[in-house]
Amino acid sequence: MKLLRSLCLLAFALAVLLASSAAEAGVNVVATTPDLAAIARHVGGPAVQVTALALPTQDPHFVDARPNLALALNRADLLIVQGLELEVGWLPALQSGAKNPKIQAGGSGYLDASQLVTAQDAPAGEVSRAQGDIHRGGNPHYLVDPRNGAKVARGIAAKLATLDPGGAAGFLDRAQALDREAADLATKQAARFAALDASKRAIVVYHRSWSYLESWLGVTEVGAVEPKPGIPPDPAHVAGLLAKMRGAGVRAVVTEDYYPTTTSRLLADKSGAVLCVLAGGAGEAQGYLDHVRDDADRLFAALAR
Ligand SMILES: [Zn+2]
Repeated sequence: MKLLRSLCLLAFALAVLLASSAAEAGVNVVATTPDLAAIARHVGGPAVQVTALALPTQDPHFVDARPNLALALNRADLLIVQGLELEVGWLPALQSGAKNPKIQAGGSGYLDASQLVTAQDAPAGEVSRAQGDIHRGGNPHYLVDPRNGAKVARGIAAKLATLDPGGAAGFLDRAQALDREAADLATKQAARFAALDASKRAIVVYHRSWSYLESWLGVTEVGAVEPKPGIPPDPAHVAGLLAKMRGAGVRAVVTEDYYPTTTSRLLADKSGAVLCVLAGGAGEAQGYLDHVRDDADRLFAALAR
């Protein structure tokens, strides 16, 4: 009897200990990209811990499925993915290795952020691998437009509220604040770009990551250095693109910092454009909107020169 009572006490003490450590840790969020992580950090505030699987300096199409990433997923209460097949090459293996039913697609701790925005560039008709690393549901690089980031923030707030109902008001407040700031940023930058002469708004991109930003800021994409998504440039494609750039008066070749710059620089030099290297993701300690603002500022400087 005495033994039973001490066992019960022990179990009770353990339960208290586990509950208090869980409360301390808050909601454990894993996001696939640095921008998603930055939005989740903003919305979750002190009630969440956020880990990004891809580093800001890493191409989010190709992330090494290191064991520490599976461990982070094993401990996650919520996995937020950018979706539209951005992570299709590396995330599924990590998800199954994580042994965590919550964060599997359709689970209580899974959020596909692409469901919260309207996708652009969905290919028409049949898609085959011959077209390169094409994303069937549309372009997954939607977070370069701050208004999409604001929609994602609201979706994250709603999801976090289901996991931590006590924090719901805070999540909503912070998402609304981000929404207001994003709308303000979107309006101001669009006005600034609209004041640019139309002849100064043509760009070439390395990868087709900037479609949503082009729609937002009224910039025209003349072509891409990659002949197909994920396929490196070949001489014939580069020669054709250079001719097109000269004809269109392209002002800037825009690339993320994680892509090789040799061909982009060559094209810029030969056509009178400038190489404009933008950050592919929010820096470790950078807010999401600061990242978007910084990219827009750098592009403006490249076009307005
Ligand atoms: Zn892509």
